[in-house]
Amino acid sequence: MSKTVAFIGLGNMGGGMAANLVKAGFNVNAFDLMEANLKAAADAGCTPMDCSKKAVEGVDFIVSMLPNGTIVESVYIDGDALLDVIPKTALILDCSTIAPANSRRVGVEAEKRGLNFVDAPVSGGVAAAAAGTLAFMVGGTEANFETAKTVLDAMGANIFRAGDIGAGQVAKICNNMLLAIHMSGTAEALQLGIDNGLDPKALSEIMLKSSGANWSLEKYNPVPGVMESVPSSNDYQGGFMVDLMLKDLGLAQEAANASKSSIPMGGAARNLFNLHKNSGGEDKGAKDFSSIQQLYSRD
Ligand code: NAD
Repeated sequence: MSKTVAFIGLGNMGGGMAANLVKAGFNVNAFDLMEANLKAAADAGCTPMDCSKKAVEGVDFIVSMLPNGTIVESVYIDGDALLDVIPKTALILDCSTIAPANSRRVGVEAEKRGLNFVDAPVSGGVAAAAAGTLAFMVGGTEANFETAKTVLDAMGANIFRAGDIGAGQVAKICNNMLLAIHMSGTAEALQLGIDNGLDPKALSEIMLKSSGANWSLEKYNPVPGVMESVPSSNDYQGGFMVDLMLKDLGLAQEAANASKSSIPMGGAARNLFNLHKNSGGEDKGAKDFSSIQQLYSRD
C-alpha cells in the first residue's frame, strides 16, 4: 500500500519537492498558510488540508520545508505543537535550513515524546527541487537515516548522513560558507584581471586549468557573458538569492559563536554580501548571489 506523507511548507522549494513525492507514488497531505501555494500543490496531485494537525493524522512521514528556525519550532513545539499529535510510528524530516540548535531542540522534544526526527537540509535551488536532483545532508540515527531515504530518494540525487541530529545543518552551513567565500574570491580575481586588460573568458579558461579552479568558476561564472545559461548572463535573475546566502552566512556566524570557532573568511564574505545588498541605492537581496561581481565591477 502507498505510504502517506504530510508536507508542511509548499513554497519555492517545498512545492517542487511535494510534486516529486506524488510522482513517486506517495499520498501527500499538503499544508501551507498561503492559499495560492496550497492550490498549486493540489494541482500537482497533493491533498490540500486546512489544518496542520489534520494533515499529520495517520501518516508515515512528515516533511517540512519552512523559512526559519522560529517557524520550525513553532510548527512542531510551541504553536501548532504537532509533536503532540504525530503518530509514534512516523518519521519527521525537517528539510528547512535552520540553526543546528533549533534542529537539536526539535529532536530532543521529539525524543521525549517517543518520536523519530532527522534534520535534512538541502543543497540545490528551486530548479533542483523541481527536477528531484537535490543533495540532502541528514542528521540523525543510522536507522532513521535508512528510513528517511525512502522519501528522500524521490526528491534528491545525492543523500548523505552527516552525523547525529543537527549535523545536517552544520554540513549545510559549512558548505554554503565555503561557497560564499569562493564566489566572492572568484569575482575579485576576475575583476583584477579585467581591470588589467584581460578578457574574462580567457582568464577563466586559464584559471580553470590552474590551481585557482573552483566550482564558481567551473559552473557559475559571475561575469556576464562568460558562460551561457547562468544567472550572470541573465541580469543575475533566478538562481540563489543574496538574501538566502546572507541567511546562511548568519547561521554560520551563530554556529561559530556557539563553538567559539574563528571564521575570518566567512565573516568577510558576510560583510561583502551585506555591502553588496545595500550598494548602489537599490536592495539587491533578490538577485542571484553571483551578482557579488557588481560590487567589484567598475561598470
Ligand atoms: P518560501 O518562503 O518560498 O516557502 C516557505 C513556505 O512556508 C511558504 O509557502 C509559507 O507560506 C510556508 N509557511 C510559513 N510558515 C508556515 C507555517 N507556520 N505553517 C505552514 N506553512 C508555513 O521559501 P523556500 O525558498 O521554499 O525555502 C524554504 C527553506 O529552504 C528555507 O529554510 C530556505 O533557507 C531553504 N532553501 C532554499 C533554497 C532556495 O533556493 N530557495 C535553497 C536551499 C535551501
